[in-house]
Amino acid sequence: MQLRSLQINGFKSFADKTVIEFVPGLTGIVGPNGSGKSNITEAIRWCLGEQSAKSLRGERMGDVIFAGTADRKPLSRAEVTMIFDNSDGYLKQQPTEVTITRRLYRDGESEFYLNQQAVRLKDIVELFMDSGLGKESFAFISQGRVEAIFNSKPEQRRGIIEEAAGVYKYKQQKQKATGE
Ligand code: ATP
Ligand code: MG
Repeated sequence: MQLRSLQINGFKSFADKTVIEFVPGLTGIVGPNGSGKSNITEAIRWCLGEQSAKSLRGERMGDVIFAGTADRKPLSRAEVTMIFDNSDGYLKQQPTEVTITRRLYRDGESEFYLNQQAVRLKDIVELFMDSGLGKESFAFISQGRVEAIFNSKPEQRRGIIEEAAGVYKYKQQKQKATGE
């Protein structure tokens, strides 16, 4: 599975539709301070179902919508689409190209799409839970996270290992089934 394309429209500093195509290999994103590099990784996490406005450096979720600048009006919605090449079948029961979209309006209305079909947040989260690309996964190592792992308590560290090993999903299902 590989992320092929990221389309950002009205999310944070990306007022105009911006398309980033990823080719096989390593991609580095460089740019001056404040140019939107972190906003790109946040767009990815948001599209994968991030629910915490704080972890997206905002107060409320609406803060991800382009807030306007001195010469540009605020926008009324944010939208991020990710297209994955799934020709290796890594995402089970999914087509060779998987598309996910998240959209948020200023009035709070929120939409998720999987292959152009409206779905629930839960469907997106579960699809990626075991893929190593979930919003909490180790695909994202933000500033300060390394230190937090070193300083975590043994139980917390165990949770980290369980997530990395892919057993976290089953633990959650077990908890749900047994009503723990
Ligand atoms: P650094 O190199 O300092 O880490 P960066 O390239 O990661 O910088 P970001 O943090 O991604 O930069 O971008 C910050 C910019 O995004 C700021 O100029 C901020 O005003 C802008 N920004 C954040 N949220 C919004 C929003 N909702 N609407 C418009 N602009 C926004
Ligand atoms: Mg940054």
